[in-house]
Amino acid sequence: MKLNGTSLNTPSIKEITDLRALAIDEVGDEHLSTSYETPLREDAFAIDDELKMELIEKHFREIMHIMGLDLTDDSLKGTPRRVAKMYVQEIFSGLNPANKPKVALFDNKYKYNEMLVEKDITFYSNCEHHFVPIIGKAHVAYISSGKVIGLSKINRVVQYFARRPQVQERLTVQIANELKDMLQTEDVAVLLDAKHLCVSSRGVNDVASSTITAHYSGKFSEENTRQEFLKYVQLGGQA
Ligand SMILES: [Zn+2]
Repeated sequence: MKLNGTSLNTPSIKEITDLRALAIDEVGDEHLSTSYETPLREDAFAIDDELKMELIEKHFREIMHIMGLDLTDDSLKGTPRRVAKMYVQEIFSGLNPANKPKVALFDNKYKYNEMLVEKDITFYSNCEHHFVPIIGKAHVAYISSGKVIGLSKINRVVQYFARRPQVQERLTVQIANELKDMLQTEDVAVLLDAKHLCVSSRGVNDVASSTITAHYSGKFSEENTRQEFLKYVQLGGQA
């Protein structure tokens, strides 16, 4: 085919590769996720935590070295090990199913049939596209199907899924699905309000914006129930 005298060629391999790289960049910068499951490999836990920390330490030392930092400096020399421990034992410990909170179910003896709202649960996560923090509040509600869990367990479920490289939409759905499973009910609401440091400290440098994501299912799909939940959440600590 001719256009203004020049032929329209099929794109070269390099052009295709450039386009792909551009698309991958865009996915990261727009914070799109591909699935509700955290994309883990089958062999994710084939090596134990101790070996993971050793390897991360080695590679993080290399990154610091490449950046030109003097790793013999007293202040810096322990950093690779500290980062490795922090990744495996703290901020990404929620990748390992062995760290999933064990939850005991109790009978709803008080026959409390209204919604239970646990609000202002602080969580710290990390954006999987930039590996910088996401800091937010989770508001969670459920209506008992006859079973209840200890209140602190709701916080622990939120923390567990937050301690992964995340996108906020996936975190929201993972928390909701886990609570539905645990509580044996569809009547669950999860609302997250979070600040992304990749938006505030870099990129568009917007310090004021926050991102809200929500998941409503069962009775929370009904307008009245959802409004009641939103009313409790908006009381902002005065309830
Ligand atoms: Zn990001």
